[in-house]
Amino acid sequence: MDGYALRHGDLSSQGSTTLAVTQRITAGDAPQPLITGSASRIFTGAPIPKGADTVIPQEQCTTENDHVTINANVRLGQHIRQAGEDIEKDSLFMQAGYRIQPQAMGLIGANGIASIPVFRRLKVALLSTGNELLMPGNELQDGKRYNANHFILTGLLQALGCEIIDLGTVRDELPATVKVLKEAASQADLIISSGGVSVGEEDHVKAAIEQLGSLDIWRLNIKPGKPLAFGQINDKPFFGLPGNPVSLFVTFCLFARPFTLRMQGISDVLPQAIKIRTQFSHTKNGTRQEYVRSRITTTESGTEVRTFGKQGSGVLSSTVWANSLTIIPPGTVIEPGDLVDVIPFNELIP
Ligand code: AMP
Ligand code: MG
Repeated sequence: MDGYALRHGDLSSQGSTTLAVTQRITAGDAPQPLITGSASRIFTGAPIPKGADTVIPQEQCTTENDHVTINANVRLGQHIRQAGEDIEKDSLFMQAGYRIQPQAMGLIGANGIASIPVFRRLKVALLSTGNELLMPGNELQDGKRYNANHFILTGLLQALGCEIIDLGTVRDELPATVKVLKEAASQADLIISSGGVSVGEEDHVKAAIEQLGSLDIWRLNIKPGKPLAFGQINDKPFFGLPGNPVSLFVTFCLFARPFTLRMQGISDVLPQAIKIRTQFSHTKNGTRQEYVRSRITTTESGTEVRTFGKQGSGVLSSTVWANSLTIIPPGTVIEPGDLVDVIPFNELIP
């Protein structure tokens, strides 16, 4: 606080007090001890001189001929920040397993710590499967569609601080799929593919994994995202995410993201849902747990959540409109006004 530092005991208990100003202390100075019965001119960020215990803001003072007059209610210790007020000496203020956010970097720096041990960046191999895929920039041809998943995964993984090994698009053929997955396992810490994990004759990812390593999880009782595969190739974890872009986005956020974070050494990785009142009804009581693209809004009447009209797993625009996923457990009917579990996107992205 810009003002005057003094000893509270030097203020008279009634009326005003006038003290000589014997020192001027600005931020960065190393002050002399306070001369008893005097005041020090002081500025925000400056250290308090030994012997002073209170600061009076300059707005509450009048000065004349190197003397300051105080006529205000003054509390002992006011406007002084104690050393250790935020973090006590020798106390633990951050633990291993913490994902370092910018504010944490500030705290580490504020404690004079110039470097800390961190995990190296994860190398993640990415591949798309599908004979129909074209990269944007090429002219659209009959039977083809542009690759969306490559960009979803690249963006999500970049935001998680991963190094991406882009293995491009592989054709829907078993030998080609085996070859590229082998290459992925030799280069990366984690392998993520899109598409080709269903049961069709043209889906070769499952067979390739079984040939090269082990398949630990295949298919989940969720919507969207049923065709999800998880396994290992040469001890490298592998996620085979569904080809439908919405399914890919949702399964990445729910499963691959926490897994990636845990591989990065982070302990607290699971997304947290919050309870919000719905503005929608959901009467189809399905057998799979649903993750509905939804938007949380807050108005004068409170916070509520509504859903995007088209919930198809190819309707990627629903994920751009949404700011959350609303969870609908299997066999549940929802009426407007019901409380539902909602995972905000800030729990899922990045
Ligand atoms: P799949 O899981 O390979 O059977 O694909 C399911 C659906 O998602 C199909 O309609 C595919 O054309 C589509 N799809 C697969 N991969 C991609 C991709 N990378 N970008 C956009 N759509 C895709
Ligand atoms: Mg396919």
